[in-house]
Amino acid sequence: MGNIIDNLNKIEANIKQLCQSKGIDFDTIELIGASKFRSLDTLKQLKADGRVVAFGENKVQEFKDKYDESLTWDIIGQLQSNKVKYVVGKVRYISSLDRISLAEEIERVASNRGVYQKCLIEVNSGEEECKGGLSVSEVEEFLDKLSAYPHIVPVGIMAVAPQGVGEVELKKCFTKVSEMFQKIKVKNPEFKVLSMGMSEDYLTAIECGSNQVRLGRILFGDRP
Ligand SMILES: *Cc1c(COP(=O)(O)O)cnc(C)c1O
Repeated sequence: MGNIIDNLNKIEANIKQLCQSKGIDFDTIELIGASKFRSLDTLKQLKADGRVVAFGENKVQEFKDKYDESLTWDIIGQLQSNKVKYVVGKVRYISSLDRISLAEEIERVASNRGVYQKCLIEVNSGEEECKGGLSVSEVEEFLDKLSAYPHIVPVGIMAVAPQGVGEVELKKCFTKVSEMFQKIKVKNPEFKVLSMGMSEDYLTAIECGSNQVRLGRILFGDRP
């Protein structure tokens, strides 16, 4: 655990320094632990520290195995419709809403349970064919369609950066998502989360407007 706290101290110092130099309010940045393959015990200890506010799981099976009410969870990985029933009402955000068929199932389950499920819309900022997520230009139309699902509350965007591109291209992608996010936010007061940035690119993402970074290896160390 000591190592994780050391890592967190460094991450926090890096973010504070960036915020100071760019005039960003540090308190608006949320840190979430990308907790795939990490033990519940580790997550509980990290929660006690207080700086990491939620844990993002990729796989529903792993989420089910680890689930503990005392922690705050998000689903950040691709979600299959037949697994929706295991997460609705239990996770703070479904951060990977990227298609109407998934929205239909979330609506069905949430409405049955009488809950409202907050979701982030997943955007593929690099527009890569192989990845999940909508393209930036599709988001507004998708949001319009979501208004037909009253138990889904869209609260923001999750974007995954393209892999292996240089800093300039990365900033272009993040900025494009961020501009789209700001535009929607003006019209929609519930829209407040811009989740961009992981171990390799969290500082660049925050510089471009992200207010939620999902940290895996840089926080927990290399994957076991
Ligand atoms: C694993 C994962 C992360 C964290 O990745 P690192 O590079 O280890 O920080 C963030 N977001 C998603 C969707 C992930 O699957």
